Amino acid sequence: VLVVLARSLAEGRIRIVDLTQPLSESTPIIQLPEPFVNTPGFNLHELSRYDDRGPAWYWNSFESGEHTGTHFDAPIHWVTGRNLHDVSQVPLEGAIGPAVVIDKSAEVAADPDYLLTIDDIRAFESEHGQLPGGGWLLYRTGWDARAQDQAEFLNANETGPHTPGIETGCARWLAEESPLVGFGVETVGTDAGVAHSFDPAFPCHHFLLGANKYGVTQLANLAQLPPTGALFVAAPLKIEGGSGSPCRALALVPA
Ligand code: MN
Repeated sequence: VLVVLARSLAEGRIRIVDLTQPLSESTPIIQLPEPFVNTPGFNLHELSRYDDRGPAWYWNSFESGEHTGTHFDAPIHWVTGRNLHDVSQVPLEGAIGPAVVIDKSAEVAADPDYLLTIDDIRAFESEHGQLPGGGWLLYRTGWDARAQDQAEFLNANETGPHTPGIETGCARWLAEESPLVGFGVETVGTDAGVAHSFDPAFPCHHFLLGANKYGVTQLANLAQLPPTGALFVAAPLKIEGGSGSPCRALALVPA
């Protein structure tokens, strides 16, 4: 099967779609209200660039929060998953799997606080078949168009951030009933901007990570994926004890 895969890639019958946003000092990061501690963004520090500090080589160090840019949430990130895997322990079987893409970009264009429901998933299943075991649900909202601008991406006003997410009951269903292993979004986190006021707060984090499942955020190019039939890959850094990591997310798609 891998010979066929390699030949299909070489001959262009399988396309690789990069689902990753670029990492730089301007990559949007989440902003928590007082009194919570916030995360640093991504910063490069030049060590040498073919100069006195290293005449033949260019290299940098970088600093970054674990939850910066396109990144992976490990179960231990949330208190409900505190005894579960850190990001170095996540089995790679969970980081690769069939993708289904539910497109709610039209609904989100009309209402940035749109919440995905179990009925949305049932409607998707009636058209495209059952959700795949070991798979990832990728939630297309059109929010990736805002990903180069912190203010547009967070979309906050005096009542807080307004970005799309998922209903509490749907988050619980994905965690406890569905055969999926992960949930991927285009927004800064897997929960809605207003999910701080839900019960429980941040239900996607609460239920999915507590069920030893995963999240990936700040995805790009979901519009290039079919509703079913793509293979999703997310490769986080193997940070020992880490709660998450920036990752390279991609999909293999039949051309
Ligand atoms: Mn995160």
